[in-house]
Amino acid sequence: MKTKIVYSEKCLGYGTWHVEGPQRVKIATEILASKGYDFVSPTPATEDQVSLIHDMEYIWNLKKGLVEDSDTPAYDNIFDFACLSAGAAIAASKINGFSITRPPGHHVGKYGAALGVYTRGFCYLNNIAIAVKELGKKTLILDIDGHHGNGTQEIFLGDPNVTYLSIHQSPNFPGTGGTSEANCINFALQPNVGGKIYFETFDRAMSCVDPAKFEALAVSAGFDTHSCDLASLGLVTENYFEIGKRIAKLGLPAFFVLEGGYNGQNVGLDIDAFLRGYEENR
Ligand SMILES: [Zn+2]
Repeated sequence: MKTKIVYSEKCLGYGTWHVEGPQRVKIATEILASKGYDFVSPTPATEDQVSLIHDMEYIWNLKKGLVEDSDTPAYDNIFDFACLSAGAAIAASKINGFSITRPPGHHVGKYGAALGVYTRGFCYLNNIAIAVKELGKKTLILDIDGHHGNGTQEIFLGDPNVTYLSIHQSPNFPGTGGTSEANCINFALQPNVGGKIYFETFDRAMSCVDPAKFEALAVSAGFDTHSCDLASLGLVTENYFEIGKRIAKLGLPAFFVLEGGYNGQNVGLDIDAFLRGYEENR
């Protein structure tokens, strides 16, 4: 059975000029619709759900539009857009689906910008963290976005219920993830390494975790590792089929949350390849 895509057109309603703009998701969903995927509409996360992860003062400031940095503007009603995106991640976690709603989330920590960086890197609420906390299961978070998920690491560092594993480009924003720390396992790769080195590293990363210790897999699914994207590891569409295949072999109930990936055409084709790899091998 095809994985359901969690999506609402409402998420297209902000930030037309930004690199994290509506087109990336609009074009990608059109491609997925043309390939026969079914779509499910999310409901927004409640303030109670958001506060499972984020500090109340940060939530209040976000609601009032008082939280702005050079990369992460305080758009009108951004709190509502962010709650819808967090709600989409929660919905994906309940139906083992793929949330393609924006804004992304893995750079934002409990209090906003994670320690040591000036920006939340296009993120307002940590969608995957909220979904994982709400699910309440022993979870492996696999972050395949090309940037290190510093917000997610900060949130779950030392949490006995969660292991965070990231494979990302370095040097690049946010500059963290050079080494592993406690339950946060990091693999940093040089730009444009290509599929061979990527998969050698991917397999090494997988050997660090015992799937039997987890009840769920949450994937921060970023596609900016695609060649020429913002954190290129030199991957091409067929490589995402292989990633999906390897993830399926973990044998865990999984859900997927879109992070980066800034070329809508590539994002749509890469998600399709990824989900085909996953579905044909689970
Ligand atoms: Zn990224």
